[in-house]
Amino acid sequence: MTGTRKLHIKSYGCQMNAYDSHRMADILAPRGFAETAQPENADLVILNTCHIREKAAEKVYSELGRVRKLKEGAAREGRRMLIGVAGCVAQAEGEEIIRRAPVVDLVFGPQNYHRLPELLARAERESGVVDTEFPVEDKFDALFPPSAAATKARGVSAFVTVQEGCDKFCTFCVVPYTRGAEASRPVAKIVAEVRGLAEAGVREITLIGQNVNAYHGEGLDGRPSTLGRLLHALAGVPGVQRLRYTTSHPRDVDDSLVAAHRDLPILMPYLHLPVQSGSDRILAAMNRRHTRADYLRIIERMRGARPDLAFSSDFIVGFPGESEADFRETISLVEEVGYAGAFSFKYSPRPGTPAADMGDQIAEEAKAARLSELQALIERHQRRFNALCRGKTLTVLLEKEGRHPGQLVGRSPYLQPVQLIAPVDRIGEIVTAMITETGPNSLFGSLAPAGASCESESASAMGA
Ligand code: SAM
Ligand code: SF4
Repeated sequence: MTGTRKLHIKSYGCQMNAYDSHRMADILAPRGFAETAQPENADLVILNTCHIREKAAEKVYSELGRVRKLKEGAAREGRRMLIGVAGCVAQAEGEEIIRRAPVVDLVFGPQNYHRLPELLARAERESGVVDTEFPVEDKFDALFPPSAAATKARGVSAFVTVQEGCDKFCTFCVVPYTRGAEASRPVAKIVAEVRGLAEAGVREITLIGQNVNAYHGEGLDGRPSTLGRLLHALAGVPGVQRLRYTTSHPRDVDDSLVAAHRDLPILMPYLHLPVQSGSDRILAAMNRRHTRADYLRIIERMRGARPDLAFSSDFIVGFPGESEADFRETISLVEEVGYAGAFSFKYSPRPGTPAADMGDQIAEEAKAARLSELQALIERHQRRFNALCRGKTLTVLLEKEGRHPGQLVGRSPYLQPVQLIAPVDRIGEIVTAMITETGPNSLFGSLAPAGASCESESASAMGA
């Protein structure tokens, strides 16, 4: 990409932030900004922050200490470097950031980055520009589509935000406060964005949202759509060969989503469905609005629709009041479902959320012990799931060059990284691979002859 000014964006946290960082780069590209991986060369450095777990704000302040040195270095060379803080810490802290770190020139929240050119112009004239209002206009209407060159540089797999914000108010979570109320983009706009990505060579689309299956954007008929119907609309976009979505809430799994898994072969058989805890008492205290039995019924329905579906989840251990018996319920749920992988976290009190003020906070040592037991169990499940792939053929979307000469890395339908030897010009293709070795996190294989069948993808054992 060409441009006279250099932009460096450091993105923390979830895929929503990764997507937002790309869109910030896209909106600044017509203003002459080209991205650089070297912050010391940048004219504008943006930290796109995450507030989900502990010490997020403190980490941003210590990163700003490092960025201050870069800014001073640029000034010594006679260059002006502007510093921006974006994302959920910016939303939560606002002006406090400028007060504690005067090196910062502008602070803007996740709902304001479409105003970046205007905010930047202000920051060039005045010090300490802050914009963390929730605007009435639709930010997506003001954004620019990426150029074909920018899309190509970002790879063959892309995220597309379809829904933002959350109205669920789980008692541990800051998202409803930092990202605001739930809002969904219209189907037509998402289809247009996906069409543009596919024309530029993207083959896999992951629809993202804080609560993606609460999606209810305006459909092509003018009525509210569902995530299931949106997936059907996107399955028809030429060039798109794989669809995924994340992150879902069990409460919002509806018939249309189950039908999408049954009817759309390009919807990958891997579902991230966070449950957080296996104990009904804790689920109620978390305000998750579903029980363990509800969750297990959803898994059963989904497996009924697509027997090779594999699951992953998020877990929190040490939520206030979590007893040893509650934790055992989480362990038994993991055993019962048999996950292909999962993320697990120690509960971290977030200021302003109800759980932070609950009594019976759990001691750090108990949290740490529960987390390591849970993680060991999840790792055993993940290894077992990966080992099931040995000796089978899987489709692999080749994404990029590997670390060794001649090696490419791609992803299986179950999101496992697969390493194999293949010519570099096959990046972007979906190939069939024979899996010869498996590790805890990756699979290793070789290109299978054309026409080899992908037996494991139709084997219900994969979902078990
Ligand atoms: N919307 C998703 C859902 O309902 O599960 C996930 C949103 S959040 C970005 C991702 C994960 O971070 C959550 O699923 C939860 O496990 C974890 N998380 C959120 N708040 C947390 C907290 N206060 N302490 C520890 N983990 C937390
Ligand atoms: Fe946070 Fe997810 Fe709960 Fe919304 S549904 S409050 S994003 S954990």
